[in-house]
Amino acid sequence: MFIAFEGGDGAGKTTQIELLRARLVDDGHDVVVTREPGGTELGVAIRQLVLHGAEVAPRAEALLFAADRAHHVATVVRPALVRGAVVLQDRYLDSSVAYQGAGRDLDPAEIKQLSLWATEGLLPDLTVLLDVTPQDGRSRRGTVHDRLESEQDDFHARVREHYLRLAAHDPGRYLVIDAGLPREEIAAIVAERVSRL
Ligand code: C5P
Ligand code: MG
Repeated sequence: MFIAFEGGDGAGKTTQIELLRARLVDDGHDVVVTREPGGTELGVAIRQLVLHGAEVAPRAEALLFAADRAHHVATVVRPALVRGAVVLQDRYLDSSVAYQGAGRDLDPAEIKQLSLWATEGLLPDLTVLLDVTPQDGRSRRGTVHDRLESEQDDFHARVREHYLRLAAHDPGRYLVIDAGLPREEIAAIVAERVSRL
């Protein structure tokens, strides 16, 4: 089973992944926690280039995230799924659709096609969207760590709006939760949905 966590910077994805991981391990599951960009050695190098390097043109940025994803799916995610593990992943293709598609003003449909090509069509069984406003995300993440986080609020507002639009079109694959809820409450909502899967 493949579960992706999405949402703006500062939404609390990492915290919720850890809470779900602990619960699934307690239940005896084989759990793999990973992230994009940066879930492989190649990915760590791409992450450094795209988030902490010099300027990156929007299409180059989209291709670099797609390259990270292609390698990560081929070498980490698919092998884990094949052996029956539960994969909990911090960001997946919807990050690209929202950030490079809506945020950078490329065509979201083309960005999705690029990721589907990169991953040979792998989609999550469930995508948990932790919905956060740009203002709350900014105050929750504190200091700016990377090039994308330092974008203005209007960029993050486009990202958020696009995430919500994606979720509204496919309620079967998405679970949208207000990131402002107490973390134990969010964890309980996630656990309930995952147990039904
Ligand atoms: O969540 P994390 O901080 O690891 O993500 C790294 C940065 O890369 C974030 O600022 C996120 O907005 C950005 N990102 C992106 N496009 C992706 C994946 C991540 O702009 N496809
Ligand atoms: Mg971040």
